[in-house]
Amino acid sequence: MSSASEENGTTLGHCLCNAISLAIPLTVEPSLSFICHCRDCQRNASGPYQVVVIFPSSSVRINGLDKILKEHTIPGSATLSGSDKVKAFCSLCGCTLFTVPVKWSGEKTVVRIALFDEGLGKWPPTQEWFVKSRPLWIRAAEGTKESNMAGGVGI
Ligand SMILES: [Zn+2]
Ligand SMILES: [Zn+2]
Repeated sequence: MSSASEENGTTLGHCLCNAISLAIPLTVEPSLSFICHCRDCQRNASGPYQVVVIFPSSSVRINGLDKILKEHTIPGSATLSGSDKVKAFCSLCGCTLFTVPVKWSGEKTVVRIALFDEGLGKWPPTQEWFVKSRPLWIRAAEGTKESNMAGGVGI
């Protein structure tokens, strides 16, 4: 059975204005789904955390005009992990789409899970990173492994 967000054997996600969409083959599962409480994620989400999934960059197909997709590099001196990350966003609607951490040589793409219609239900997070930034009014998600660092089992 396929839904509107699944097409041609892919799972589709898109920015707020639809100018840029992402397609992931249905045969590819993320290597990790996790909650990130780092200050960058909080600031970008204006909330307590972002939920993101890690895919091999080679499996993420980006549809949309190159000039609409903009990048901003957050220097390692300003990230909790200490390494640069390149944040990609739609310049029409401002929606952040994904980041590419330089420490993985561009091989992994960290995609915001809620861009995909079924993403939050399909890929429940199994880890929480930088929990020291988690506000007291937020509880740990059920079944997650917590870390005060960039964690990552099997990534
Ligand atoms: Zn957009
Ligand atoms: Zn983060």
